Formats: sequence, C-alpha cells, structure tokens
Amino acid sequence: MIETALDPVELLAVLKGIEREFGRRTGGQRWTSRVLDLDIVLWSGGTFAAPRLTIPHILFRERAFVLTPAVRIAGYWRDPITGLSVRQLHSRLTRPGTIRR
Ligand code: ADP
Ligand code: MG
Repeated sequence: MIETALDPVELLAVLKGIEREFGRRTGGQRWTSRVLDLDIVLWSGGTFAAPRLTIPHILFRERAFVLTPAVRIAGYWRDPITGLSVRQLHSRLTRPGTIRR
C-alpha cells in the first residue's frame, strides 16, 4: 500500500519505470523474463478509466495471488464495482461452492 500525490496515470508511468529498472542486469544485459509486475489494484478515488489504465484492475477479483496478500494489509478495503470488501472477494474466490456475482 502506498500514498502518493501522483494521479493514477502518473503513478503507472513511475511503476513501469521501476519494472524496466528491475528488468535489467547491472551490466545492461536484459533478463529473458520479467521479474516484476507492478499493477494498480485499487485506489482511494474509487473507479478510474483511461486508455491504458483501468482501476480497479480488471482481473484482481479472480486472482488469489493478489487477494491473499491484500487481505493481510487491506481486508477492509471495498471494491467500488461489486461493493464487496477485499476479505469478501477473497472468501468467495477460495471457498468451494460459493456462488460468484
Ligand atoms: P499484466 O499486468 O496484465 O500482467 P502488463 O504488466 O504487461 O500485464 O500490463 C499491460 C498493460 O496493462 C499496462 O501497460 C497498462 O497500460 C495496462 N493496465 C490497465 N490497467 C492497469 C492497472 N490497473 N494497473 C497496471 N496496468 C494496467
Ligand atoms: Mg502489469
């Protein structure tokens, strides 16, 4: 979780810059596969849409590798699209037999 004065588009540009930094060895040789993926999952402003940026991240509700750690730092955070908290999204994803909306 971060706090920033940047708007979402500016923040994404910073995150992409960090990804590029992590994608290079110190000698300048590129790694063959990406070692870091920085996405904006949720933000305090609710929903956001730009040509190359959608918040909430469109797939985060289906990804346990996002929701499991998110529960630990922000389980109370509410998804503005479904109205469900991160904890509730995680529960419905990981509980077998739960009906998904
Ligand atoms: P992925 O994150 O899906 O594995 P990439 O990291 O290559 O794939 O991202 C592809 C593009 O998705 C980014 O260049 C960005 O413009 C776009 N994108 C749309 N919404 C988001 C978001 N919420 N967070 C990060 N990137 C996003
Ligand atoms: Mg990404």
